[in-house]
Amino acid sequence: LDIFGALTDATQSHATTRTLLAFSDAVSRVTTPAQLIQVVADMVPTVTDCDHSTVYLWTPETGQLWLRAASEGHDVPTGGVDEELLINPDAATVEEMVRRRQVLVLDESSEDPVLRRLVDQSHTAAALVVPLVANGELLGVITANFDHGAPATVGDADLHERLSGVADQAATALQILALLEKVSHMAWHDALTGLPNRRLFEDRVEQELVRSRRVGEPVCMFFVDLDHFKTVNDTLGHAAGDDLIRQVSQRLVDTVRRQDTVARVGGDEFAILLPGLSDQLSIDQLAQRSLEAMSMPFDVLGEEVETSASIGVAMAPDHGDSYDELLSRADEAMYRAKSLGRNAFQMYSGSMVDSHAGRVAIDDHTLKVDLIHALEHDEFVVLYQPYIDLRTTRVVGVEAL
Ligand code: GH3
Ligand code: MG
Repeated sequence: LDIFGALTDATQSHATTRTLLAFSDAVSRVTTPAQLIQVVADMVPTVTDCDHSTVYLWTPETGQLWLRAASEGHDVPTGGVDEELLINPDAATVEEMVRRRQVLVLDESSEDPVLRRLVDQSHTAAALVVPLVANGELLGVITANFDHGAPATVGDADLHERLSGVADQAATALQILALLEKVSHMAWHDALTGLPNRRLFEDRVEQELVRSRRVGEPVCMFFVDLDHFKTVNDTLGHAAGDDLIRQVSQRLVDTVRRQDTVARVGGDEFAILLPGLSDQLSIDQLAQRSLEAMSMPFDVLGEEVETSASIGVAMAPDHGDSYDELLSRADEAMYRAKSLGRNAFQMYSGSMVDSHAGRVAIDDHTLKVDLIHALEHDEFVVLYQPYIDLRTTRVVGVEAL
């Protein structure tokens, strides 16, 4: 009997090892937390002989467990938060799960109302529930559901060991993948506003340029810079400046269309990619709407703050057909809007740059200096341009330039 028992144990632990190895192999190929929990949900029925399985993820901010994956054949609604699928365990239950990390057996006799919901929600008769814990933090729970009540093996140490093994590996992998996702997000987004950064913006613009070339559509870009933003920093402090930048970014996102990309490309500078926006009237209207959104008062740390912005507009392919060209043309047009008094938008119109200084030529100051210089040096000449009546071919007037 001893030998028979030892053999059974050996076979079982062999099966456990094999299952866990297969699981490790599957885990090593996933790249996102969403893929991982799907692999877990699909694997648990093989590992535990249950009928189906679900994975809930823990949201510490709201204190909720949220159903995010189910084994094949059982759909999980995607999209918005479905209140039905949320579970709110109390702090004591969470602490207990983290501390004991043990597999719980739930069926109709279970008393804990929170844990019971895990069973009821899956429309199942009994379930094994194991928490996903890494570094002393709850990340979620896995359930193995039995439709026809708990099987005789439900208390089996070997079964619990397999499920715990899956949960441990899954928790570690989940933590690493979540960290990777966070780092990757940081590399492509601005930390203050959460908007795409210059790098991601460039990527999106390049993609859009390729697409638009293929279908022969223009690409529109706005360059937005706040007016006298330094005054906010100087009078209310840097934290207030930061808060204003955050609110401005939100207003820009709310103003443009869903398919547009708003990016933070500098201190108080934003660039907006507007695919498919090509007729002058729509461009003007959207630029005007953005200016109006910027000029509504902001509540910055309890103070009412008024600001405005200057916007430059450039189009591909008319004003350039690379990212760099388009951005610098929109930037030039923005400087023009600044020099014409701010709180305005300007479409790029060629010849805006003084090729010697590399700066905007047509600002009020330069123009004034040039006019004075021309008067002093007697550089003005009058040219007369005739008006000719085409029916009689006679000169009927002149225009003086
Ligand atoms: P202008 O109308 O000519 O644009 O004047 P401005 O005061 O807005 O000046 P400019 O756009 O040239 O400079 C933006 C300033 O934004 C410079 C810097 O002090 C400030 N700034 C840059 N990054 C940050 C940031 O992350 N937070 C805060 N609070 N201020 C920033
Ligand atoms: Mg500015």
